[in-house]
Parts: sequence; structure tokens; C-alpha cells
Amino acid sequence: MPKPDWKNRAARARELTSQAPAAAELLRFYVPVLEFQGRVRDAVATRAAADPLRPLRAQLDPALLLPLFPDLFRVVEAHGSPQLREAARTLRGQGEDRWRELLLDYIGGQPATDALAEFFPRACVEPYAEHLAAQLRASTQAIASCPACAGKPMLAVLRPEGEGARRSLVCSFCLTEWEFRRLLCPACGEENEPKLPVYTAEALPYMRVESCDVCRHYVTCVDLSKNGLALPLVDRVAAAALDLWAAEKGYGKVATHLLGL
Ligand SMILES: [Zn+2]
Ligand SMILES: [Zn+2]
Repeated sequence: MPKPDWKNRAARARELTSQAPAAAELLRFYVPVLEFQGRVRDAVATRAAADPLRPLRAQLDPALLLPLFPDLFRVVEAHGSPQLREAARTLRGQGEDRWRELLLDYIGGQPATDALAEFFPRACVEPYAEHLAAQLRASTQAIASCPACAGKPMLAVLRPEGEGARRSLVCSFCLTEWEFRRLLCPACGEENEPKLPVYTAEALPYMRVESCDVCRHYVTCVDLSKNGLALPLVDRVAAAALDLWAAEKGYGKVATHLLGL
């Protein structure tokens, strides 16, 4: 797994705003969010060391993240959608006890009762969980949940290898990337090729929708053998149009991206 670099991710999102006009608005918001996540990474980097014997989620300390919430509110109030700005204003007024509760629910894997409010703990937890997961040596078995935290995959990546490409999945909680067989549905385990159609859009030939006609789930896949400049976490946002298309076809996501895609 490449070393996390939030500065590169923000730079890539900035670059894509002109290349992917359909997702430009989302990407313009994602730039300052990624910059904020870089500040979270810096804040936890010196203070949080991973313990290989304890589950990753149990090692996330909300007290490290609470002081960063006001910074995130500023980012959202300056750049977010009207709904998200409103959610930021409400949360700012509710204070730390409510922020801690949101963090604990998100870390504990509670289903979100308020999808908008979940954006805030998730934006803070991602860089922290990624930082811890990078220190744990993740095994690379072909399992459908994250080997570091048991989270669900939010996207797939194809990396060039020899003549072809090898597939991996990226965790929606800690951003760990792990190897996963190419012809295998991560939601239900289907492995019969005709039941696993792949769709691409002409405008974004390095993005694929990898779907399953048995369980009707899909993951968006970033094909690095077709575009070596892509950063999967960021480029995935540029494929927002594919999500609309998949939803029309009746496919559902295995797990969402921070921006709700
Ligand atoms: Zn994970
Ligand atoms: Zn399936």
C-alpha cells in the first residue's frame, strides 16, 4: 500500500475539478476536506502508535480528535453544501459531548441515524484509522472485509502487474488496501463471470463499475493500469456519474465514500 499523502490527494482533487466537470462541485469541496484530513494526520502522527494485539477500532481515542472539530466546522461552513453547512452550525452549538457521541457511534460501527452528521466523525477518523492501520501488518487473504478493522470495502483498485492487473479493495473505515480476487463479488462471494458484469463510461475509461447480478451490489473500481496518475480515493469522486447510472440500474453500493458516493 502506498504511503498516505494527504497533500497529494488534495492536489489531485484540485487537478480533477477541471478534468471531470460533472463532479467539479464535489471535488471543489473535497480539496479543503482533504487538506483538513492532512492536519488530522499530522495531529495524530506523533501521538498514536498502534498496538498489534488490540482491535484497531478499540485503539481510536476520541479525545485526540475532539479539538479538531472546530477546524472541520470552519471548512464545511466555508465550502460545504447548504445542508452540510446547516449540520455544521447545529453541531458546533451542541458541543463536545455530542461530538464525542458521534465519534463513538461511528467508531463502534453503529448504523448512522443521520447521514449528514456522520460526515463529521468520519472525516476525522479516516486519517487516524489509516495511520494506525498502516502500522499493523495487514494480511492479504482474499476476504471481503478489511483485514485491519473488519470494515466494508468502498472501492476497488486495479494495479498493473506483469501483462495484466491485480485487484485490491479499499476499506471505507481505515483506508487500508488489501488484495482481492478479480472475479469474486465482495458482497456475496459470487464467482461466476457472466454474473459479474463490468461497465465503463466513455468519458472516464479508467473507471469501472464492477457489479454483481446475484446480490445487485457494485463497487467502483479505479484502473491504474489505464491511468497511472490516478489516486483511487480522490479519482473515485470524479466517477459520480457512474453512481447515478448504477442506481438507475438498481445496483446498491457495498459501502459509501466520505462524500456519500
Ligand atoms: Zn479497515
Ligand atoms: Zn454479489
